Amino acid sequence: MSEPLYLAPRLESRAAALLDSPSFLHSLTAALGSPLNVVLPDQIADNVRRFQDVYARHRLAGRIAFAHKANRSSALVRRLAALAPAGGGTAGAAAVGVDVASLGELQHALGCGFTPDRITATGPKEPAFLWLAARTGTTVCVDSAGELTALAALVERHGLPRASVMPRLSGFSSPGTRTLTRRSRFGIPADEADALLDLAEKHRDSVELTGVSFHLDTMALTEKAVALEGSVRVLDECRRRGLRPRAVDIGGGFGVDYLADGAQWEAYTTELTRALLGKREPITWEGHGYGLRGENGTLRGALGVYPGHRPVAGPRYLDELLGQAAPALGRPLATLLLENLYDLHTEPGRALTDQCGLTLAEVLEVRVTAAGEHLVRLAANARDIGLEDHGLLVDPVLVPRREEGGGGPVGAYLLGNLCLESDLISRRAVYLPRAPRPGDLLAFVNTAGYFMDFTADHAMMQPVARKAAVYEGPGGAWRWCLDEQYWPHLTAGDDLGDAV
Ligand SMILES: *Cc1c(COP(=O)(O)O)cnc(C)c1O
Repeated sequence: MSEPLYLAPRLESRAAALLDSPSFLHSLTAALGSPLNVVLPDQIADNVRRFQDVYARHRLAGRIAFAHKANRSSALVRRLAALAPAGGGTAGAAAVGVDVASLGELQHALGCGFTPDRITATGPKEPAFLWLAARTGTTVCVDSAGELTALAALVERHGLPRASVMPRLSGFSSPGTRTLTRRSRFGIPADEADALLDLAEKHRDSVELTGVSFHLDTMALTEKAVALEGSVRVLDECRRRGLRPRAVDIGGGFGVDYLADGAQWEAYTTELTRALLGKREPITWEGHGYGLRGENGTLRGALGVYPGHRPVAGPRYLDELLGQAAPALGRPLATLLLENLYDLHTEPGRALTDQCGLTLAEVLEVRVTAAGEHLVRLAANARDIGLEDHGLLVDPVLVPRREEGGGGPVGAYLLGNLCLESDLISRRAVYLPRAPRPGDLLAFVNTAGYFMDFTADHAMMQPVARKAAVYEGPGGAWRWCLDEQYWPHLTAGDDLGDAV
């Protein structure tokens, strides 16, 4: 075999310590089956603090709302609900909230302990979703003029409290520059904001415009700077009209750095190109190119994968964005917000789940082909482990059942448990430090954001992964419970496991 091409996952201390506990992980899968999702609720609390630090550094107030759609876990949402603002609620510390995008998520957030003043509702909304949001006093990021009208009508018809709205805008442009924000199927075009404000004024008895919002599915700082400055311009117009907006919500999309080593990423993409051009032996299943292909010695297409190595991600990305100059006004965006005393709301999904979970899958069978390739069949499928689906290339970690030596590194294709040719968990050869054996586990790290439960289903009546919440008990020993059994008092030094 040629040199292994590793794409080692970035691991922070809590996840690394858990992976260093193979007997604990094996006891979990023995009890709960494979695949198994593990979430680390204390990690999401740490991640929130890092975002709060960025707010504090820029002296900004506002709210960090977890975009619930990234993970269905109750443990993560309950852990967040339990968080008080840093400094015990002193002015200036960013509050912690949740952003819900369906009726089910709203019900879940309320049931996990979030009061409605900490919840925002975004995304497509049916009447029942709008009704429950208005009934409870949840802020609604209305997606269109029609939705604003429908909400106002609901409030009037049912005698509901005045609804707080933060219209979602999209399609920003900046005077004097050519940057446009990309097209979105969501939101109200920024150049139609005036008509929207007319509508908000018309319905002022039933809706209160408390700010504006956007969410751009991009990592481009310049586009976000254009959108943020454009939003401030709309807020200024609101004030001119006598409305009293307080905040701008800049959505999510802060990203995660998944890989430990940028050099491995460079080496991998270089070798992938060489393989597709026939300059080395293949490193993907049937010459799969992740969007690239070689044609008569030329590379065509575009690599359609998540840039796994992303040093400026999460809170650091927010920090850089706030330091960016406003495209037309020239002052840093944080200054622009401070001058106007606007609060900053953010909705990180993926970034708040960074290092918050992993997916375990048991090795069922290992075959070696005539060409020396290892085919490793797992008790899990590509919907349980959505890494490939989302174009994220990162290695799993081998969690041996027994410590035995053996053989040195191998390249392996990971096959799922569905009776489908397409059910590959990896379409590239994944290099492992030794050939796995039946009974070993592969741990897919950092799956809590979109990978572990977004697409999982009961295809072929295969089991959907159970979810366990894992936390450190007294003395640092690992404790676990089913995700739905987790409540934050378990980690507050009030450990029930010890009391009984
Ligand atoms: C998906 C989504 C988010 C979260 O995006 P991430 O990339 O996970 O941070 C935030 N806000 C809205 C409105 C969304 O649709």
